[in-house]
Amino acid sequence: MTMSATRRQMSEKQRLKKMSKAQLQLAVIKKQQCDAKALAIVVQLLEPHVDPDWFLPNLGLISKSHMEDVIEERAIVKLCSYVLCSNQLTVVIRQKYHISTRNNKVYDVSKRKNFCSSLCYRAANYLLEQMLESPLWMRDKEDIPVFQILPLSSKSTQCRDEIDVAAKEIFL
Ligand SMILES: [Zn+2]
Repeated sequence: MTMSATRRQMSEKQRLKKMSKAQLQLAVIKKQQCDAKALAIVVQLLEPHVDPDWFLPNLGLISKSHMEDVIEERAIVKLCSYVLCSNQLTVVIRQKYHISTRNNKVYDVSKRKNFCSSLCYRAANYLLEQMLESPLWMRDKEDIPVFQILPLSSKSTQCRDEIDVAAKEIFL
């Protein structure tokens, strides 16, 4: 009796050990799959034409840092960094700051230069603010928000901001 009980305990221990190893392997595989999927999405986001219907549901599978990479990568190939814009970057802003004489403010234009317009810059930041930063492989336990693109109403209120003025001053 004592012998078999000990053997049962042993096998239970071994089973647990095996289980945790299998679970560990599964976790590693899951992480790799999530990373691969995120990478595939990032590659698609570097294309000039991104389908909004495909794009929005996939945003929950990438992280804020991926989107920041996309912004930089698109600008390198002279494409507007807002993923839903296919404009080429023809205007090159070389300066880092713009001092507005209108309201005596200093603007950092180093990020704005990656976009064809202030509108795209705002739309990209609007998306960036919604991006998740949690580990990809834990997203299935998370409530994924419904991602929104900048509403049309804010597109129609075209207020020309100071950075637009900066671009104009340099190139016209
Ligand atoms: Zn654009």
